[in-house]
Amino acid sequence: MTVFKSSSIVAMLLALAACATTTKEHDPNQDLGLLWVKHSAEYRAITTQVYRDASDDLPRLIEDKTWDAMTGYGKPSNLPPAVILDVDETIVSNVDFQLTFDRPFENHKLDTWSSGRDAVAIPGVQSFVSAARSLGVTVFFVTNRPCERMAGNDDPCPQKQTTIDDIRELGIPVDPEQVMVADERPDWDREKLSRREYVAKTHRVIMLIGDDLSDFIACVRESPNGACAIPATSASRAEALEKHKDYWGNGWYILPNPMHGTWTSFE
Ligand SMILES: [Mg+2]
Repeated sequence: MTVFKSSSIVAMLLALAACATTTKEHDPNQDLGLLWVKHSAEYRAITTQVYRDASDDLPRLIEDKTWDAMTGYGKPSNLPPAVILDVDETIVSNVDFQLTFDRPFENHKLDTWSSGRDAVAIPGVQSFVSAARSLGVTVFFVTNRPCERMAGNDDPCPQKQTTIDDIRELGIPVDPEQVMVADERPDWDREKLSRREYVAKTHRVIMLIGDDLSDFIACVRESPNGACAIPATSASRAEALEKHKDYWGNGWYILPNPMHGTWTSFE
């Protein structure tokens, strides 16, 4: 076994600290994840594939009245079917924002960017939403864009209208009641479970679609929210993944996002 003297450890720590202070600032044009999403045909192929797989599964999951994407198989339900989609990097691509915004990320920077240009669709989403609606499925959009007041605007949640505008810019008509923004109601915190449960009071949720583990499973964040009492760990996230393994590609459909997400908090 290698034994380090304390003076060696101090020297190593000083060397590491020196490295940290000389690390170059993050350059998005060197970030492989960002470049892959922006430029690769493979990224667009995957999103198209995910939405096609979800579309193909619609008739089966509509037909099976015992299926519920939140609780699995259970008692038959006569509630009308619904699907829940996340927004950013699930239906709307923000890769151009990710390539250009001044670090660090702040919500108002995305608000300003989103409201200044037409939204760009994640390939495949429009066909999926059309297919779902043509089969009588209600589509809900649950986003963690938070309500934040903006100077000179009386609206307590201008981000809701920005999100509705973004969805409509994709060519997807939407009822504002079907768009659910974080903090819009007192119990709609960043933990999306309370909003999924709100939808489930009136609908049988047959599908969840998102780009982050938290779009599917509660309490997977490093910083707990809402009903989650303790921080998640890599191990707890792996356990949650294993516990729900039968859902992937069967009611749950995840899109790739190597740019940002709850995963970045874990090693
Ligand atoms: Mg997202």
